[in-house]
Amino acid sequence: MAKVQDFNSPNFPTWCPGCGDFSIWGSLKQSFAELGLEPHQFAVVYGIGCSGNMCSFVNAYGFEGLHGRGIPVAAGIKMANPDLPVMMVGGDGDILGEGMGHFIHACRANHNLNIVIHNNQVYGLTTGQTAPTSEQGMKTKSTPHGVIEEQTNPIALALTAGATFVARGFAGDIPHLVKLMKAAIEHEGFAVLDVLQPCVTFNKVNTYAWFRERVYKMEEKGYAQTTKAAAIEKALEPWHTQIPLGIFWQEKKPSYEDSLPQLKEKGPLPTRDLSKIDITPLYEEFR
Ligand code: SF4
Repeated sequence: MAKVQDFNSPNFPTWCPGCGDFSIWGSLKQSFAELGLEPHQFAVVYGIGCSGNMCSFVNAYGFEGLHGRGIPVAAGIKMANPDLPVMMVGGDGDILGEGMGHFIHACRANHNLNIVIHNNQVYGLTTGQTAPTSEQGMKTKSTPHGVIEEQTNPIALALTAGATFVARGFAGDIPHLVKLMKAAIEHEGFAVLDVLQPCVTFNKVNTYAWFRERVYKMEEKGYAQTTKAAAIEKALEPWHTQIPLGIFWQEKKPSYEDSLPQLKEKGPLPTRDLSKIDITPLYEEFR
């Protein structure tokens, strides 16, 4: 059985010392090992950004997509090989900025994918510009007078768009993060895991200390998943004062892949017997 270190590539991460990306990287590898996955048994698609650099640091099938386009690539891989667990790892700028449309439509479709959002409230790789998750009024390199737009709430967005697993973790609590990651990987359907991940170099507001004063685990406060409305209400708790962690919502629904008649037959597309498929009617239509 693979051990945590078997998921290391020969390259050591180049992230800034103390970056929350280290915790996510470690939690992913630990989750893979604890779930009994081998490096050849799953695929990870990465976005562009500091988080996307993880593609070089994980020993598994990896693909670094165009900025914001990781989700459609992941969905394509899943449809080509429905047996393969597929994850997409990206930053808040990548997934909720350039990739916002893909994110919403993938929630609606309930693709059988696991999405991990490195949410550090800035664009880190490009040195600290505002991201969709920056708080209104926050001063960044690109918003010297403060952010004008509303802060995007990935949890509320995923819940209202139809994701069937929605959770939030914190890079400062690895055991809890591993628990959430394993649950997300095992979920059948579109799983969104928002991870609060301090960017220690370019976000001097949302630091580890800032989060530690505010985060709490919903399961320790008696939260039970009752209705979607209650989950949304939790997601909308004021960011300034309290930030809930844990699973907001999980439900069972047929995934997009389950609903495609072409994928009823099991196994990767290249291994299927094409001799039984008659394309004559299609050919006649376009002749
Ligand atoms: Fe991490 Fe920020 Fe450094 Fe990027 S710039 S590696 S997000 S601390």
